[in-house]
Amino acid sequence: MVLGEKMKCSFCGRKSIYFRKNEGHHYCKVHLNKSIEKRVRKTIRENNLVGKKERIGVALSGGKDSSTTLYLLNKILKNNPNIEIIGITIDQGFGCVSKYDSTFASELCKNLGLEHHIFSFKDEFGVNVEDIIKKKETSSYCAICGVLRRYLLNKKARELVCTKLATGHNLDDEVQTILMNFLKGDMMRLARVGAMPMISKNPKFVTRIKPLINVPEKEVELFVEINNIKHSSQTCPYRKYNTFRGETIKYLNNMEGNSTGIKHSLLESAVKLKPYIKKQFKKSEIKLCKKCKEPTSKKICKTCKVLGVQ
Ligand SMILES: [Zn+2]
Ligand SMILES: [Zn+2]
Repeated sequence: MVLGEKMKCSFCGRKSIYFRKNEGHHYCKVHLNKSIEKRVRKTIRENNLVGKKERIGVALSGGKDSSTTLYLLNKILKNNPNIEIIGITIDQGFGCVSKYDSTFASELCKNLGLEHHIFSFKDEFGVNVEDIIKKKETSSYCAICGVLRRYLLNKKARELVCTKLATGHNLDDEVQTILMNFLKGDMMRLARVGAMPMISKNPKFVTRIKPLINVPEKEVELFVEINNIKHSSQTCPYRKYNTFRGETIKYLNNMEGNSTGIKHSLLESAVKLKPYIKKQFKKSEIKLCKKCKEPTSKKICKTCKVLGVQ
């Protein structure tokens, strides 16, 4: 390859802004944009993420991933009169999502003409996540936050009569989780990975979908830039304590740098293992938490446990 040609789009000759190493193609803004949208369309189609009639709630934090999820779902599905898309934001009061982030979420929904709902930890639980985590070990900050957020998202999506709950997990998020679960020996969680909708027999559990699962983080970063999607770049101040994820990110990026394509193949491996893992953990029946009546696999759900520490 001639050196000068390296910086030109492989499809049109315009200036390249991105090199997709595993394909060996250069992309200009226009072609990268098209390619990402095409990949999301393919993920939706091949995994039946969207049915004939849906009301899809997008878990919208105001960050780049969830904003892209909402933006693309709206772009792909807006002409279908049987599909409705709404934004659901959980204001955690601190950390990953605060008032600051939710203003980005509101703006985006307003611009796209979509319904938007904001709920806060403080209103729903009577406490801020900060109050709870102060009493816990630093390492569990993100875990506690995640438990409460997922709980509220499911509950609110159900109350808003959503048929699906879409989250902004990108390829990097997913493979980090896969590797971390392997390293921790948490096989049961591996049953949840992959692009297939996360369904439960429990009627109180809203089916979850991850439309961005095949898009690497770097491409999501470029997508918001190309499409001028205003988003929050705030990172959770507690995230730095979560060194296990931090180390996993470093390791995976390092590996991807040396052996291109390992993120995609790690996801593929986990997806292939999934049916066997699911078989092994089939026993979990439909249960509702004794305290709050929300879906759980135990007698008392994690959220009630976390709140009970108070
Ligand atoms: Zn091009
Ligand atoms: Zn509960």
